[in-house]
Amino acid sequence: MKRRTFVRATLGTAALSFPAARLIAADKPAETDLAAVKLSGQATTIERKALNELAGSLHGRLVLAGDGEYDAARRVWNRMIDKRPALIAQCADAADVAQAVTFARERELLLAVRGGGHSFPGLSTCEGGMLLDLSPMKSVRVDAKARRVVAAGGVWGGHVDGECQQHDLATTMGQISDTGIGGLTLGGGFGWLSRKHGLACDNLVSVEVVTADGKSRRASLDENADLFWGLRGGGGNFGVATAFEYRLHPVSRQAIGGGMSWAAADAPAVIDFYRETTASGPRELSLDFWVAHEKQNGKIVGLEVCHTGDAVAGAKIFDSMRRIGKPLSDTVRAMKYVDIQRQFDDGNVSDQYHYLKAGFVREITPAFAEFLAREYEPTRAAGIYMQNASGAVGDVAPDATAFWNRKNIANLMILSEWGDPANTERNRAEVRAAWEKVEPYTAGYYVNLSDAEKSTVGGNYGANYPRLVKLKQKYDPANLFRLNSNVSPSS
Ligand SMILES: Cc1cc2nc3c(=O)[nH]c(=O)nc-3n(C[C@H](O)[C@H](O)[C@H](O)COP(=O)(O)OP(=O)(O)OC[C@H]3O[C@@H](n4cnc5c(N)ncnc54)[C@H](O)[C@@H]3O)c2cc1C
Repeated sequence: MKRRTFVRATLGTAALSFPAARLIAADKPAETDLAAVKLSGQATTIERKALNELAGSLHGRLVLAGDGEYDAARRVWNRMIDKRPALIAQCADAADVAQAVTFARERELLLAVRGGGHSFPGLSTCEGGMLLDLSPMKSVRVDAKARRVVAAGGVWGGHVDGECQQHDLATTMGQISDTGIGGLTLGGGFGWLSRKHGLACDNLVSVEVVTADGKSRRASLDENADLFWGLRGGGGNFGVATAFEYRLHPVSRQAIGGGMSWAAADAPAVIDFYRETTASGPRELSLDFWVAHEKQNGKIVGLEVCHTGDAVAGAKIFDSMRRIGKPLSDTVRAMKYVDIQRQFDDGNVSDQYHYLKAGFVREITPAFAEFLAREYEPTRAAGIYMQNASGAVGDVAPDATAFWNRKNIANLMILSEWGDPANTERNRAEVRAAWEKVEPYTAGYYVNLSDAEKSTVGGNYGANYPRLVKLKQKYDPANLFRLNSNVSPSS
């Protein structure tokens, strides 16, 4: 496993690009009918006339196999995923989304919805169906006085951070700037700020969503409150979110970020520090713990940090961190918050193959500490990264929103990335073998990382599941939105 998978801090920051929306109609009219796949898996044919009508009605564009942009338009983040949708509706606005949803529903087409395309298991594309692509929808509007931001369904976290930080404001976004806010927020949304301000979905004030009937609805505590409950953690099950309104918090542009690493001999002390600081440290401090294999040192452990509180108080904490053993590397320093958010970026479309297994950790028990420090052996291909899940995430009652798994300290991932497809089977096997040993220390999983069996979805939502099923029956009875951690209406 490449250590840079976890720790890109030393590599500097990548500029975030803002792709321009392409608001033009299809290159050329469809000349033939199109073979496609239905929700049932059966083959179907879409008539040429219907394709041309759809293309003509969109403010964005319809891309078909054979169009010059088809291959670029179907790429998603994980290179492992190489699917060929029959048609791609690149939506420019909510009206386009409603057209595309109606088109898919009326023809019972297999439908995938893509926000930022970062789904590890590739849930934002499909083979032979229709891809509803939100990537042209990139508007972000900040109301600094009201401390609100409204961002369109295809926006990335970095777009929100960039606009809000101009006003010394922020809300919880993921740790990589080119991850879509769509999938991230609907499934929860952990980030450096979630310890202090809760999940991305906890900061939602309202969501504009196109449901399976093609209607655009506003969901908030006052309007369609049932839907609003389900959208906060229920993933893409209930419709296509075309706009998210978030609450903002004062967050200074200057923060402290970076990380430190240590030899395996220091692992017990590092784990003690991590456990104690996560339990009782200030909420402005978020720590992620990792274990990896490095060519020179073999097994190493590390902490990535983000501190958005008082700089003097932060410096004191990091001084004590520096006194744990003898760090092998130390990149902890004053950094702009937006640079902390970009330090691990790998591009919205990665040139690497990725595989992961993940689950939540409730506490660092002595047995788990012993496992991490002494028993677990990372390989070159796979290591552990524990993203912080403590603090304000757990202040919200598990049934207050659809997001059930609240009482954890970390979201543990076993990650592998590689560039040569010849290594795919070996690396996946290594991740699975490591997961067998780690899984007993976890309970439940983050739906946004899940490639879990459908049979586990209900249990993972705990006592929220019956309510989710009822919502699904109300808003998506035919299960049009099924490429997600799926709540089946017939459960
Ligand atoms: C490199 C990387 C870093 C990550 N970092 C974090 C992190 O720091 N914190 C964290 O919590 N998670 C993180 N994740 C996981 C991330 O939350 C999920 O991958 C999430 O689904 C990404 O959202 P997206 O819009 O890019 O995904 P997509 O692949 O576009 O979609 C994922 C799912 O959400 C649905 N969806 C997306 N947008 C919409 C929408 N607008 N309306 C309805 N359904 C929609 C899709 O249909 C699909 O089911 C990371 C993932 C990657 C690959």
